[in-house]
Amino acid sequence: MSSQERTWKTIESGPHTYEEALHPVVRKNYGKWKYHEIPKPGVLKHVAESGDTIWTVRAGTPRQDTIDKVRLLCDVADKYSDGFLRFTVRNNVEFLTPNGENVEPMIAELESLGFPVGGTGMCVSAVSHTQGWLHCDIPATDASGVVKSMMDTVYNEFKDMQMPNKVRLSTSCCSINCGGQADIAVVVKHTRPPRINHEHLVKTCELPKAVARCPVAAIRPTVVDGKKSLMVDEAKCIC
Ligand code: SF4
Ligand code: SF4
Repeated sequence: MSSQERTWKTIESGPHTYEEALHPVVRKNYGKWKYHEIPKPGVLKHVAESGDTIWTVRAGTPRQDTIDKVRLLCDVADKYSDGFLRFTVRNNVEFLTPNGENVEPMIAELESLGFPVGGTGMCVSAVSHTQGWLHCDIPATDASGVVKSMMDTVYNEFKDMQMPNKVRLSTSCCSINCGGQADIAVVVKHTRPPRINHEHLVKTCELPKAVARCPVAAIRPTVVDGKKSLMVDEAKCIC
């Protein structure tokens, strides 16, 4: 073993402290807020004991954001909120600025980019939901697509604060329900046995894994036109 003295410092892996991601005004006044109010849908105003004020503009996102969309959001943050933004548990995006004059132009820009401003107070805020196909290998359904349809339906209720109380929704793509608890928690289920596109399946699916996933062994290996594929025993399928 070499006795050479170590001259470098180990860079530890793991997440950075969340404090680095806080807007400096939030970091300075952390836990020392006097009050907050909602001057209009999608806008929060927090006033600290120190007298500092910070405005938050909240907008809905499609949840599954492309890199192009993320870049658009970062450009808005660079322009209006000192480069800071945050995502909420319901996949809303929030921009915080100590400059009240930035609020209206920021709202106009977000709306023009297709991000509806709202989701505060007595509204139907965006849906808290599961990873679905993006990250989980269990789902037979995809919560994200259902969430998009649901939020398209209640678009105006997201932007206004006309509900009798806050309404919070969640969806999950199996009964494990990792979308979480909510006023209305939706578990997305198929109501018919799955149909198989044999041409695509062999290119996109790990066949043995799909076979192993079915709790009632309704999915089985088969051969179609000389190629490995799967079949569903509809009599056994519990959908
Ligand atoms: S709800 Fe079920 S299928 Fe959906 S991500 Fe959570 S564990 Fe996976
Ligand atoms: S029972 Fe099996 S084949 Fe039917 S939907 Fe569930 S996993 Fe798919």
